[in-house]
Amino acid sequence: MNVGWPRPASDDPSALGWPPPDTDDDDVSRETDADLVSRETEPGPVSRETPTAEPEEPSVVDAAPLTDLPPTAQRVPSGPWPLPPNPRILGVANQKGGVGKTTSTVNLAVALAQHGARVLVVDLDPQGNTSTAFSVEHREGTPSIYDVLVHGRPLDEVAAPVEGVPQLRCAPATIDLAGAEIELVSMVAREMRLARALTGVAADYDYVFIDCPPSLGLLTVNALVAAREVLIPIQCEFYALEGLSQLLRNIELVRAHLNPALHVSTILLTMFDARTRLAEQVAEEVRNHFGPVVLTESIPRSVRISEAPGYGQSVMTYDPNSRGARAYAQAAYELAGRAATEEGHMNEGTSS
Ligand code: ADP
Ligand code: MG
Repeated sequence: MNVGWPRPASDDPSALGWPPPDTDDDDVSRETDADLVSRETEPGPVSRETPTAEPEEPSVVDAAPLTDLPPTAQRVPSGPWPLPPNPRILGVANQKGGVGKTTSTVNLAVALAQHGARVLVVDLDPQGNTSTAFSVEHREGTPSIYDVLVHGRPLDEVAAPVEGVPQLRCAPATIDLAGAEIELVSMVAREMRLARALTGVAADYDYVFIDCPPSLGLLTVNALVAAREVLIPIQCEFYALEGLSQLLRNIELVRAHLNPALHVSTILLTMFDARTRLAEQVAEEVRNHFGPVVLTESIPRSVRISEAPGYGQSVMTYDPNSRGARAYAQAAYELAGRAATEEGHMNEGTSS
């Protein structure tokens, strides 16, 4: 089965295409095909577990083994969670729109703040959906991340408190940000403006999430230069993996030239619909390819998740007992647990 993981372009002209040509077991659209169903119980001709059958792991992906991950079934503890020794700065990126970047940023941030972390969310999308979900003022002209990037205004001057979540602040995005891609082009150190703005304030937080726009332009580059980790939400749908190799190439470029610490630390499967075989196939392919950076928990498709922003809320506050809220809590708990292992991983895997 191959659900279209893009191979390096140099090896395969159809690398970004879907489905790849001439494979005999890749037709993910044949959900009703009895033959396909019957294969579920048979090992395929090539075991996906065989490491040599996999394409090269992109080097930007942090493939270190992670220990102590909570199994999905385990309930998240209600008290404080482990805090990272140093602030973790995560760029939430995927140039595809509508894959759950904003939803994941919002709900992971709230879940972590609810369990003792100090969290800053930077809304870097001119659409300002994150700001909306937090009910943070973001009308044109409101002090915002635009002023930080373009006019050098201190970030803590624009970071606003989020009502109902005491430890959380949000630097809002206004529509002014739509012009920033162009305005930044002629500016000094145009790729580093967010990184510099964060230098002074990151220490006040345990987590900084940067919600990227659906493009790979200068705003996203600013996020990748400012971040240490990249969190990629992947929607469990047919074209899920299209464009991912381009994102990974950009991450590699930023890492090579501007930010050596940058790595893909986390992949989160979103809008997972367990009833469809396609979602399972996409999830399986992503897990086979990326290994342990994929969070064990995936986020189900849930009406409550999509309703929450309409009330200026995260699903964590809107309906904390819903399936969606519980999944985001579990995913956030996993994310927090990985911070504890990161120190060990950076010291050649000594377990902590
Ligand atoms: P992005 O920021 O990547 O563009 P969003 O987080 O804004 O994507 O999500 C796109 C749309 O999908 C939004 O309307 C959002 O409410 C909805 N959505 C996101 N995650 C889920 C989910 N798990 N279940 C149902 N709807 C979702
Ligand atoms: Mg968004």
